[in-house]
Amino acid sequence: MIVSCVLCDKKVKLDANSFEGKRLINHPLATYMCEECKERIAQKTEKRRREGKLRPSLYHKENDGWS
Ligand SMILES: [Zn+2]
Repeated sequence: MIVSCVLCDKKVKLDANSFEGKRLINHPLATYMCEECKERIAQKTEKRRREGKLRPSLYHKENDGWS
């Protein structure tokens, strides 16, 4: 099966029998996120958590980098 990343729109070939594949088949509204985006989100989340605050301007700037 081919899925597209909800963030960067990259097409990824996914094994339908994998955990992620089954999840997407069983939950039609579930979204797929590619490994790179997952990693990016994880890093951003960790960074924000360490900073202990979320500044709207900073968040907006980071969002622009995703497209
Ligand atoms: Zn992605």
